[in-house]
Amino acid sequence: MNVNTGADEVAAAESPVSGADYLRQENTMLQKVMEAQQQELNSLRSEMTRMRMDNLQLKKENAALKRMPLFVASVLEKLPENEVYLRQMGNNQEYVTQTSTEIYAQITSGCKVAVNNTLSIVKILGDTVDARVKVMELEEKPKVTFEDVGGLADEIIEVREAVEYPLTRPEAFERFGVIPPKGVLLYGPPGTGKTLIAKAVANNAGVPFLRLAGSELVHKYIGEGAQLVRDLFTLARDLAERSSGVVVFIDEIDAVGSMRTNDGTSGSAEVQRTLMQLLAEMDGFNTRGNIRIMAATNRPDMLDAALLRPGRFDRLVKVPLPDSAARSQIFAIHMRKIRAAKAVAKDVNVDELVALTEGFNGSQIEAVCREAGMIAIREEEKKISLKQFLDAIRKIKNEEANGIADIMYT
Ligand code: ATP
Repeated sequence: MNVNTGADEVAAAESPVSGADYLRQENTMLQKVMEAQQQELNSLRSEMTRMRMDNLQLKKENAALKRMPLFVASVLEKLPENEVYLRQMGNNQEYVTQTSTEIYAQITSGCKVAVNNTLSIVKILGDTVDARVKVMELEEKPKVTFEDVGGLADEIIEVREAVEYPLTRPEAFERFGVIPPKGVLLYGPPGTGKTLIAKAVANNAGVPFLRLAGSELVHKYIGEGAQLVRDLFTLARDLAERSSGVVVFIDEIDAVGSMRTNDGTSGSAEVQRTLMQLLAEMDGFNTRGNIRIMAATNRPDMLDAALLRPGRFDRLVKVPLPDSAARSQIFAIHMRKIRAAKAVAKDVNVDELVALTEGFNGSQIEAVCREAGMIAIREEEKKISLKQFLDAIRKIKNEEANGIADIMYT
């Protein structure tokens, strides 16, 4: 049965709107939606630009934070919700800190981390070997020879007697019943060849050269100083067993061995612990042994008297700024390669250069030779002439006057 209610006819009669009008309405509505979405897109884009700028800023801040001296802590336990239970090395202070998901995922309990002064974890250090590698420098076979050291003939003799001969001629010391000095302290202005002498002695004795920078020890690895000194001597003993000996060189020893201030700060307590460890290690081994200890400082006046007592650094050798004869030798050393390349022009008179470099240290004379070469290359010369040497001397003098060079002595 066909039941027609008449609704279809009514709809057809009431919808003259459908068709083109309906589509127009739909189109208008879609256009509005599109406009709204476009607006949203624009605001998201500007949000994104802002976030990118924020991100850049944060990256800069993060880099700045990483450059600041950091404390070392070890992870005791990982707590829920990105929290970490840490113990700071050195003062053993314990605390809980929140960390990023990224760092949280990478750390395990027992691992070492670097924290900034707000006690947030900035980077993961891994195990102590990392830190050891960073503060110590090992040259199994140092290449520097005494021929590379200008002037300093008397100083070299003193160092050889105290460091090299106990390694190479121990029987002579036995025969005469002489106990060689335990440690040799080289002191004097920066850049005068202290490290150079230590390396040359190690080379001549045919033993490895192990260097530790005192300043890095206390400024970069706060809390680990004493442990690193222990590590240094463990490594030295290993090396001495493998080869016929080792030369240990502690550069900038004043950073560790400054006079005790007792100002009660955790920093000075930390430096003291490091110094005590160093003294204990020095007291703990045999003078005739094959570990020879050298140290260097620009500030001998700052050193704790305990370091200079007999049985510790008991031979002091002053390494002065070079006089004119020494400067002439240093020029000869650093011009060796240039001469070998036949690149020194005829007008270069070393005596003139020596006279103009009064007060320069060895490192600055080396810089003069290097700089003169660079200027000659820039000026497309075939040889380095007097003019380029004079320009280089002027440049180094200016750097010194502007405080760029590390000269602090007069
Ligand atoms: P610092 O106290 O700053 O550690 P230093 O006295 O240990 O300085 P070195 O590191 O031995 O100085 O010298 C730096 C560079 O300067 C050397 O690599 C060498 O090229 C040059 N130099 C310094 N003194 C001399 C010298 N007497 N003879 C030859 N070159 C020298």
